[in-house]
Amino acid sequence: MNTAFSKDELAFQDEVREFLGDYRELDGFYCQGHKWPEVRAMFRAMAEKNWLALSWPKAFGGMALGPVYEFILWNEVAYARAARNPLAAGIVAQTLIRYGSSAQQRDWLPRIRSGEIHFSLCYSEPEAGSDLAALRLRADKNAAGTHYVLNGQKCWQSYAQDMDYLWVLARSGTQESRGRGISLFICDKHAAGVTVSPLPTLDGDQLNEVFFDAVEVPLAQRVGEENGAWPMIGEALADERHIQFPPGRVRRDLEDMVAWLNANGLGADPVVRQRLAELTVQVMETEMLALKVLEAMVKGVNATVDAAMNKISHTLACQDIARAVLDFGGPEALVSGARPELLWRQTITETIGGGTSEIMRSVVSRQLLGLGG
Ligand SMILES: Cc1cc2nc3c(=O)[nH]c(=O)nc-3n(C[C@H](O)[C@H](O)[C@H](O)COP(=O)(O)OP(=O)(O)OC[C@H]3O[C@@H](n4cnc5c(N)ncnc54)[C@H](O)[C@@H]3O)c2cc1C
Repeated sequence: MNTAFSKDELAFQDEVREFLGDYRELDGFYCQGHKWPEVRAMFRAMAEKNWLALSWPKAFGGMALGPVYEFILWNEVAYARAARNPLAAGIVAQTLIRYGSSAQQRDWLPRIRSGEIHFSLCYSEPEAGSDLAALRLRADKNAAGTHYVLNGQKCWQSYAQDMDYLWVLARSGTQESRGRGISLFICDKHAAGVTVSPLPTLDGDQLNEVFFDAVEVPLAQRVGEENGAWPMIGEALADERHIQFPPGRVRRDLEDMVAWLNANGLGADPVVRQRLAELTVQVMETEMLALKVLEAMVKGVNATVDAAMNKISHTLACQDIARAVLDFGGPEALVSGARPELLWRQTITETIGGGTSEIMRSVVSRQLLGLGG
């Protein structure tokens, strides 16, 4: 595996770091819900450099650069703790580029590229998370055949309170048809019948429930074929694998916690030092796994197993770092608002969102080790 970036890629990394100098105090990676206006403004500034369309084809106003550039960008943004990568420029745009009608591409892509509009992912439901194919939110055509009517509920939507549009998976076929009976829609968050209700999270941020009560979505806002969403969402997920869990976040967690332990007079303790050495090895493993995912993306080979291993390693490293500092830091680490305490609360959800650790282990055991059915 070649882990070195090219001269041009390194120059881009420098440019990103310089850009992020203006956002050093933003601190929007955790609790982005509290910083949305500032994060949105940063995405707008990125858009002026066309960084929201780094990998899009030139025909759609993109820069047609490979996944390495996207990795560098979002890894640096994560290291700077500025924000999480926006869904619109990734999953939504890539799906529209691949499957959208020309009218959809014309209507939506420029506004995504300029950072004007943002989306929340409406996939999970109370009884359909890991088993997404069980989702129940209904999408039925109205009698005139001009609209779909959405009825039902989504659950755990990140940032839905702030986003402009919803990227909604809904059941248009029978319940028994599972993944073969699901369609994908763009729904205006402000459409009549949409209610976003907060679900406070342990870290002080919020997820949301989104209720749909006879919400009318124009036919022109169905993306792809009716009942054809399943392969599209799989491909969209695959497109994002190299930027979903950027190792810069874990590296920064470790550096911040080392600084905190030193500032609190604990860095010289031999037991603390041994634990930090172990965590450093864990962080490097995470970095290597992330690069392995990136390498697979560059080569255009399937990265499912590498991405699952990366997710397990990344999220467990975050949790182990936060817990180690709580173990050593005593009451000071637990003071409300102290960084270790926030990190501990925040990392709890990391092993659930984006697919749970059990599901990731299942991917590794089945697809890499050939175990089970
Ligand atoms: C921070 C965060 C952000 C999120 N953001 C979004 C979002 O923006 N949009 C969205 O749609 N969803 C979002 N989600 C929801 C997330 O995708 C689901 O929580 C996740 O897929 C798990 O689904 P569930 O919560 O229904 O748990 P379940 O699927 O009910 O799982 C419960 C437990 O059973 C285990 N389990 C389930 N099935 C199996 C199996 N086959 N083998 C072994 N163990 C199993 C799980 O690992 C878990 O421990 C978010 C979640 C979190 C925590």
